Amino acid sequence: MSDTIEKVKCLIIGSGPAGYTAAIYASRANMNPVLYQGEQPGGQLTTTNDVENFPGYPEGITGPEMMMQLQNQAERFGTDIRHGWVTKVDFSGEFHKVWINDEKEIHASTIIISTGASAKYLGLPSEQKYLKLGGGVSACAVCDGFFYRNQEVVIVGAGDSACEEAHYLSKLCKKVTMLVRRDEFRASKIMAERVKKTENIEILYNTETEEVLGDGQLVTGVKVFNNQTNEKHEIPATGFFVAIGHKPNTDIFKGQIDLDETGYIINAVPGTSKTNVEGVFVSGDAADHVYRQAITAAGTGCMAALDAERYLAAKDADFEVATSTYN
Ligand code: NDP
Repeated sequence: MSDTIEKVKCLIIGSGPAGYTAAIYASRANMNPVLYQGEQPGGQLTTTNDVENFPGYPEGITGPEMMMQLQNQAERFGTDIRHGWVTKVDFSGEFHKVWINDEKEIHASTIIISTGASAKYLGLPSEQKYLKLGGGVSACAVCDGFFYRNQEVVIVGAGDSACEEAHYLSKLCKKVTMLVRRDEFRASKIMAERVKKTENIEILYNTETEEVLGDGQLVTGVKVFNNQTNEKHEIPATGFFVAIGHKPNTDIFKGQIDLDETGYIINAVPGTSKTNVEGVFVSGDAADHVYRQAITAAGTGCMAALDAERYLAAKDADFEVATSTYN
């Protein structure tokens, strides 16, 4: 543990569209925000290919490019952007305490949580085995699809993410088999239609994964079953992609702020970014299981910064020195 505690006016946790938008607004309001990027700097959009629905980009933009632009914009106004991972929080006292990488301790007058959500996996032992081995299981086609060029892959899921990823993979791979557990897609019609029209994507409805097959190092296939007939068969594949949704990254806040039963942070005052703890605000997917879009995340990031600014103004505390240290 560090014996020097850093005191900040506004600490932003997370670096997706929510965190960076909060940072832009907080910087421009002279709150001297410090932003910790977390494990995946840039957040989920860094694993997205084309973003075509964010206003202001008529030709579209790649996710990583957009995140770099947001980061540059936050830096332009003075946000202190740092690498690091928040490992513990204590919101019980006057100052909100946060520990970075189990070492550095920060006391913040306001906190903006923008920790987003993470990809879910099926949880099968064989899936986890090859995921840990780096042997052919992935939750990100854009990150890993390249490794499976001209090969055959399987993807699980039937939402917009699964459709987007299956379509992306179809451009690289010889064949993509899509496992849909019901007899219909959850995805929007346009996304589902695009997949259905793609020649090298085969869709298997009512089909679930029994086991990811492999040679001990690498994936070699997938054993599936039809959940109506219980018929089983094996599909040869070198890659197994999972696109079945996300889990909010809120474990470190358990017991500190109110979460719903699935772990999403609860907005204490609907229509604001306020949590049940004074001075702690939330933005983006960590509190949103409905919209989950970059634009909504950015919008709530703006709300969180404005709410934090108003909270500080109302407290009328002495925050002249934004980033000072004391022992
Ligand atoms: P969703 O929750 O929308 O879809 C998850 C999919 O995975 C569902 O089809 C679900 O099946 C399936 N699934 C869940 N668990 C399992 C399991 N154990 N085995 C097999 N299948 C399973 O998540 P997404 O990540 O697709 O989308 C999240 C949000 O992001 C949505 O609002 C979506 O619209 C949005 N989005 C928008 C994009 C765009 O516009 N470009 C791109 C990507 C996402 P079932 O249907 O049976 O429940």
